[in-house]
Amino acid sequence: MRKIPRQLFVSEALRDQAYGDFPLPIGEQQTISQPFIVAEMTQALQLTENDRVLEIGTGSGYQTAILAEIAYRVFTVERIHALLVKARQLFDKLQYHNIVTRLGDGTAGWAEEGPFDAIMVTAGAPRIPEKLVAQLAAGGRLVVPVGDQHSQELFKIYRDEHGIRKTNLGGCRFVKLVGEYGWGEK
Ligand code: SAH
Repeated sequence: MRKIPRQLFVSEALRDQAYGDFPLPIGEQQTISQPFIVAEMTQALQLTENDRVLEIGTGSGYQTAILAEIAYRVFTVERIHALLVKARQLFDKLQYHNIVTRLGDGTAGWAEEGPFDAIMVTAGAPRIPEKLVAQLAAGGRLVVPVGDQHSQELFKIYRDEHGIRKTNLGGCRFVKLVGEYGWGEK
């Protein structure tokens, strides 16, 4: 986290606040997650340098960059075009060659590229997204905030050959996951 210039992932007006431990607006009614939750979710994924990772909700791209520093390759999906364009420009500028982006609804995952060693959802889901669990490799980990639209709990799902194991990592608050297997637009 020390290596990645977080100030580049927020607007110029918010740069002096970039290192505060709170979320900040990034436009389009979305937010960049606070550093603590980025660290907590990243740690929960137990990444190694050979892992292929799927991220749902690119947003500013800050969390994506953190994942790309640790893992082999990161596939990231964002539904809002303007945010994805900005994030991609930063990935190019910072020379991340192991980030693959896609515009669209990520609630169904990215079946063509799966299975994944790790999956991170950075928006709040109404329930554990089964399509994503299905795209976990054996030994794979998924972290996802699940709850209502005001507050959620962070779940870690671990999948092995016998089935899945679910751990609750505690309360959190995210913008909503909007899509076919998430919340509706309104
Ligand atoms: N990790 C990002 C979090 C951004 S907020 C950061 O720290 O900057 C969550 C993001 O998820 C928003 O950009 C929102 O547009 C996106 N999102 C919500 N539902 C989505 C979906 N179904 N598919 C892809 N992205 C989604």
